[in-house]
Amino acid sequence: MIQPAQRMAELGTETAFEVLARAETLARSGRDIINLGIGQPDFKTPPHIVEAAVKALRDGHHGYTPSPGIPALREAVCRDLERYRGVTVSPERIVAVPGGKVTMFFAIMMFGEPGAEILYPNPGFPIYESVIRFSGATPVPIPLLEDRDFSFDAEAVLDSITPRTRLLILNSPANPTGGAIPRETIDTLVAGLEAHPHVAVLSDEIYSRMTYDGREHVSLLGYPQLANRLILLDGWSKTYAMTGWRLGFAVWPESLVEGATRLAINCHSCVNAPTQYAGIAALDGPQDSVDEMVAAFDARRHVIVDGLNAIEGLSCRTPGGAFYAFPNITATGMSSRELQTGLLEQAGIAAIAGTSFGAYGEGYLRFSYANSVENIQRALERMSEYLSTAKAAG
Ligand code: PLP
Repeated sequence: MIQPAQRMAELGTETAFEVLARAETLARSGRDIINLGIGQPDFKTPPHIVEAAVKALRDGHHGYTPSPGIPALREAVCRDLERYRGVTVSPERIVAVPGGKVTMFFAIMMFGEPGAEILYPNPGFPIYESVIRFSGATPVPIPLLEDRDFSFDAEAVLDSITPRTRLLILNSPANPTGGAIPRETIDTLVAGLEAHPHVAVLSDEIYSRMTYDGREHVSLLGYPQLANRLILLDGWSKTYAMTGWRLGFAVWPESLVEGATRLAINCHSCVNAPTQYAGIAALDGPQDSVDEMVAAFDARRHVIVDGLNAIEGLSCRTPGGAFYAFPNITATGMSSRELQTGLLEQAGIAAIAGTSFGAYGEGYLRFSYANSVENIQRALERMSEYLSTAKAAG
């Protein structure tokens, strides 16, 4: 009998993909399904970015590239960091990878091992906890609190650091809550971290350009005292509607660049060449499509939050960023999983149970508003009807 390694039993998954598969099966059987489950922009990659990739192929960029990325891409990333985060970083610290997830996997595998502890947001992107377990480390949740608009208590986080803590994972703006960590909370956390120089930080800022109501994006890169232990994760997937291209980047501390590059060489060699050229065009080119997309998300955010709050049994905070609404559903009397199933099977709405993002997600559901206003409104009507019928049925 073949015998895969024990750690395979520890590897989790992203249930969003299962809901998506079920939604597609139902749609194929003729059901009208409104998909508010998917975590990707419903916009097309802007044409000038697509053209840059086509040109790169026509120009003969078919081969391997340097593992951390072509120099022009790493330089473009540095210009972008200067532009949007006001921070000067040397291109040698940039490692381009096939998607934001790869940085996450590398960082967690670099620090995780049996006996180590890794702090991560819960509810949070499910891959954090999954890979922490895969690495053999112990996942230590940072509970995100609804009454703090899904931020956390910085003192409580600092109190949960032990001599075994290796890595602290932060994500702002966040998936699945849409929460953004306020500057004061980050200030307190960073100040407190001075007493814990053994803790590295992975800051997942993949939604950095998606903030609303004039809110600033507070980047951990803006704290020079963390430069020797901060891994900044960002990428093109969400900002430029490029989820399927697979392109992300990280800023690594100088001491970890070589390790990250070695992981890349062992794993994927390099990001495919034309995509890297597309990435340069995205960063250096016009940004109006990003602004238009974010403005569209903002309008939909109001529609979905107001609509959810108008439904009996649901209450929803106004998310500060990303494109997710995360209503509290406890007053419906249903568990997150029951409501997810009921909405999909009975009402034709794909949404994701809060528990798919960790135990602290019980009592919530994630709705992605990367869908048209019309579809969001139809979903809200169906949801209202479904919940009043379910309530009447007792
Ligand atoms: N980080 C967060 C918080 C995400 O929500 C996602 C995607 O949903 C990723 C990282 C992964 O991004 P990518 O598709 O670039 O791997």
